[in-house]
Amino acid sequence: MEIREKCLLCCQRLAACFQKPRSETDGTAVPARPDIVVVIPGQTTSSPPPSAPIPAGNSVYLALYDYTARTKEDLSFMAGDKLEALDKSAGDWWHARALTGVSASKQGYIPANYVAPVESIDAELWYFADTKRLDAEKLLTAAGNRHGAFLIRNSESQSGELSLSVLDQGKVKHYKIRRLDNGHYYVSRNKTFETLKELVSHYSRYDDGLCARLQEPCKKMEAPQTNGLSYKDQWEIPRSSIRLLRRLGAGQFGEVYEGLWNNTTAVAVKTLKPGTMCQQDFLREAQIMKKIRHPKLIQLYAVCTVEEPIYIITELMHNGSLLEFLQKDKGSRLSLSHQIEMAAQVASGMAFLELQNYIHRDLAARNVLVGENNICKVADFGLARVFMVESENIYEAKEGTKFPVKWTAPEAINDNKFSIKSDVWSFGILLYEIITFGQMPYPAMTNYQVVQRIPMGYRMPAPPHCPKVMYDIMQDCWKENEQERPTFETLQWRLEGFFDMDVSSYDDASRY
Ligand code: ATP
Repeated sequence: MEIREKCLLCCQRLAACFQKPRSETDGTAVPARPDIVVVIPGQTTSSPPPSAPIPAGNSVYLALYDYTARTKEDLSFMAGDKLEALDKSAGDWWHARALTGVSASKQGYIPANYVAPVESIDAELWYFADTKRLDAEKLLTAAGNRHGAFLIRNSESQSGELSLSVLDQGKVKHYKIRRLDNGHYYVSRNKTFETLKELVSHYSRYDDGLCARLQEPCKKMEAPQTNGLSYKDQWEIPRSSIRLLRRLGAGQFGEVYEGLWNNTTAVAVKTLKPGTMCQQDFLREAQIMKKIRHPKLIQLYAVCTVEEPIYIITELMHNGSLLEFLQKDKGSRLSLSHQIEMAAQVASGMAFLELQNYIHRDLAARNVLVGENNICKVADFGLARVFMVESENIYEAKEGTKFPVKWTAPEAINDNKFSIKSDVWSFGILLYEIITFGQMPYPAMTNYQVVQRIPMGYRMPAPPHCPKVMYDIMQDCWKENEQERPTFETLQWRLEGFFDMDVSSYDDASRY
């Protein structure tokens, strides 16, 4: 990156560590009101297209998203189609038979994360399992949803609890869905339901104290990434299956292109300058990186390593790096809440790495990528390690490797000690980059001055317009004693907590 300052430094030795945190609240009673229109969200009125006989039992699944076949061996389907799982042993991709839709009666592979068992709560169009409150608001206020659009999600803080989020004249109201000892559900204690489906059905007929009668389920956003490119767990793919379309950018180790795999699937292709790394080291690390999957981490799909330049194939993010995004049009106009939300997403991805006992080693805005709707994903985790030499858990920079001094924790710079806590330090710098819309950290200082002054206790002052709570977090990340720095799990909930601070943020069905 052209504005990035780096200097030569050696490094060794790693360690890992973590801890735990947190909590939320309420809604209650109101009289019934007989309205008339019966809308049962989640049920389509059109009859299904001609279909194969539907088998009894629990092997029938409902497609939650559209999917277009990428190879001759997989099946295209549309959301709402039914599929019978014939063989689930492969894990992420199942062999299935389409029971309805364009592929009815055909057999082929399907991505397992695109379907849910029919009759299960996961198959309900209104169930958005692990959707956070803020994401629920974002989804409901997005284009396509109208007054009364709703979703039910798992509570972020109280496991086993659910929340109902409803769009009311452009604003989103949230209600707790509670359970009685007998397992019945209620929003308001005077009306309880055996199942969630009954609860939804009732409130879609009567508002009964809610801000609005439930109408259509919230529109789903784009389909999730499939786990891997296709059913074949093909790690090394033929270079001929990749077509490079356009150059997206370049980093220290090579160039990045937008590409097309198998002429069907958009991907990002990182091409590595010949000689940058040992092929075996890279492959060993890449095998681990490939298994690390999380919605806030860039998925590594495949590699081409038979000849140079090595290709690393990953998911494509249309808005490029967070650093460029913050400095340009859309990003430079982000509101504070969006900035904090993006920081929370990075913390979420890093919290997952923390849980996996995995260290990023080069966390910075340039290594976070941005997709549609300000979605952020952490990229290049683990790659920095490949540029180091390993022996008995000690890592040394290969000769000539450059280090991002202004992002690197003092113990990593001075004692060559990299850990998840040095990643936390870097996260504090990344917060600074987010709040300042991509300014260079320590703007008036050289790398050398930073290396000299940090051990003496110097820390960057709060950037202009930075809320105190955000600067407090930065300072916590920059504690000298790495054990006193927060975990990523804590950072995630502290950042998400900006939007979900108290019980008053829940509506009460009994107020009406
Ligand atoms: P360095 O590799 O030196 O740390 P860097 O992280 O900026 O620097 P690359 O990872 O090579 O360099 O990325 C270069 C640019 O390519 C990024 O800034 C971004 O704009 C673009 N890019 C990288 N990966 C993707 C991706 N998966 N999707 C879309 N754009 C990408």
